[in-house]
Formats: sequence, C-alpha cells, structure tokens
Amino acid sequence: MEFIDLKAQQKFIRKSLNTSINKVLDDGRYILGEEVSQLEKQLSSFCGSQHSIGCSNGTDALIIALLALGIKPGDGVITVPFTYIATLEAIATIGAIPVLVDVYDSTFNMNPELIEDVIKNSEYNIKAIMPVDLFGLPARYRLIKEISEKYGLKVIGDAAQSFGASKNTLNVGKFSDITTTSFFPAKPLGCYGDGGAIFTDSDEYNKIIRSLAVHGKGSDKYDNIRIGLNSRLDTLQAAILIEKLKIFEKEIELRNKIADLYRKKLNNLDVRFQYIPQGYKSVYAQFSIVFDNQKVRDEAQLLLSKKNIPSVIYYSIPGHLQTGYKYLNYKKGDFPVTEKLSNTILSLPMHPYLNEDDLDKIVGVIKTI
Ligand SMILES: *Cc1c(COP(=O)(O)O)cnc(C)c1O
Repeated sequence: MEFIDLKAQQKFIRKSLNTSINKVLDDGRYILGEEVSQLEKQLSSFCGSQHSIGCSNGTDALIIALLALGIKPGDGVITVPFTYIATLEAIATIGAIPVLVDVYDSTFNMNPELIEDVIKNSEYNIKAIMPVDLFGLPARYRLIKEISEKYGLKVIGDAAQSFGASKNTLNVGKFSDITTTSFFPAKPLGCYGDGGAIFTDSDEYNKIIRSLAVHGKGSDKYDNIRIGLNSRLDTLQAAILIEKLKIFEKEIELRNKIADLYRKKLNNLDVRFQYIPQGYKSVYAQFSIVFDNQKVRDEAQLLLSKKNIPSVIYYSIPGHLQTGYKYLNYKKGDFPVTEKLSNTILSLPMHPYLNEDDLDKIVGVIKTI
C-alpha cells in the first residue's frame, strides 16, 4: 500500500501526458514556454484569482510573496509553529522574524484569538500574518483579515497544501493579499518535480511578483530594477500540470469521499479528526487522526508498519523546537496545543484512488489498539 499513490493516478492520464510532454520536447522552449502562460490562465479561472504566476516551488512562492509586500530584514511576520518548516524558513531566509502563535486544537490551523496579544507585545515590528491551510483546510481568514486591517498588516496565505479548497463560494487564492501554493508531487495538485504558484487580485503585486521571479527584471531580463530570484516554472512541469488539472476537480471529490469513509469507519474509536467548520471544503492533502496520548499513537504507527501500512507524523518537531530556529528563543511549553498535537497525531494513507479494501485494512489495524 502506498501513502500517496501517484502511479494509480498516472494510469488515467499517461497517454495525454506523453502527448503533451512530447510537444514540449518538440517545441524546445523549456523555460517560459507557452504551456506556462496557458497553465497560469487555467489556474486563474479555476480559483477565480485575477493573476496566477508560476514559480519554482512553494518555498520560493512564499519568499517572493514576502518580498513583493515589502517585508524587510528585522520585520516580524506572524505564523504558526504547527506547519512544514518551509513556512518559517521563507520568513527567516529574507531576514524577517517568524513570530509564532498557537493553533486551534480542533482545526489545527492558526488561532486568530491569539494574534492581537502577540502584535501588542512583540518586540518586533509586525508587518504581516502568514496563516497555513494545514492538510488542505483553509484557515479562518475572515477573522485574520479583521485583525490585519485593524493593525495595517498584510496577509500571505500559505496554501501549499490547500489549492482547490474553498469556504462557501470563495476558493483558496482569494482569501489573502497574496496566496502561495506548491506543486511538489505529494501535494493534492502535484507535478513531477518542483513547482509552485502565486495568486493575487492586485495588478501591482502581479507586476512585482513577475519581476521578482525573474531576477528582478524591468523592461527585459537584462534590465534589473530590484533584487529578485531565479524562480521560473519549467515548461515541462506546466505541461504536466495542465493534464493533472483536468482531473483535479474529480480527485478533490474522491479525496472527500475517502475522508468521509475514514470518519465513518473510525467513528466509534478513541480517536478524533480535523474539524471541518460549516461552509469549508478541504482538499485533504492529508487525513490525520489524533490519539489520546503519545503512547497509543506510537503503538498505532508500529502496528500499521508491521502490516506494511505507511503512516507519517506531520509534524513530529514543531517549528519553535527545531534546532535551526533556536535563535528565536522559544522553548518547550510555549505552544501547548501544537506540542500536544505533535505528540498525538498520525497521518494515514490518503490519495484519490485509495480503495475501500485498503481502507478497511487500515481501520482494522487501528481497531486492534
Ligand atoms: C510543501 C509545503 C511548502 C513548501 O513547498 P515546496 O514546493 O516543497 O517548496 C510550504 N508550506 C507548506 C505548509 C507545505 O506543506
């Protein structure tokens, strides 16, 4: 059994993939070929964003978003410790300071009720808030936006795991000043290498982002009006994403069906799930369950692995306890919800083509605990 089965997906699109990959090989424009702008248009119509800009990966997407909003070294950016390290890393890379707030125990996303205290008491000049849509579920952007407006802050949505998700009629890509995503193969919409995208409704940010992604170019790439990065999306990856986007909507439905089945079958056990609030739709980048305590969780993982069922702990070391981030001076106990989740959470196999037999096998093992 695979944790994420990309081969099962490939069966459905292999033929059209071969055709479109061959077309790129024939065209010979491996960087900024026409597939890139074609994909950008399709991403925009998919999520409703005015502008979509392809880039090299989800981490660069965050760095570019921070630079586009004018975040400077020493500025504070509020984010969460319960995330993949790239969120904190992007802030730290540009010399800004990740200022952390804990997450909700129910949704695992940023707890907006904790933000104002941090803004008032931080020794840093807070300039932006960067929520993360963990496991594919959008954060509480309405409340976060209220706070950002009150204090004149920008919002950058780290939607690396949540492209395709929505709240009521609004899609991911529309909640923040700038939204970023990743097309890493294991993400819900993944390519066959590294890739990412940035979404905004602002014409001005669009211009700056496009410049930043190509060495800060001005009128052409040898006229450099700002310090940028080399962060373009490959034509081949764009061609692959165009094929994957065709089945993405259907795959989101399948992921939701599998998650519903998981919830139903695990219902009577001593585990709980990520709470999906009314009106929210997740893309289930992961299906994660939370156990009573660490001992049961670790035992569950061991029993699963004995039956060759893969499972992963996202995230076993919270951001504030990572060695590379000691300079932020956080300590154990600072973010109790995150720390408790780190010790009790487990992500189970999740992909659109997981069948009910496999699901029963997984649930069967968990039932024995
Ligand atoms: C995957 C991920 C990233 C980084 O994306 P890459 O394409 O791997 O650079 C950033 N933030 C979160 C929350 C992620 O899950």
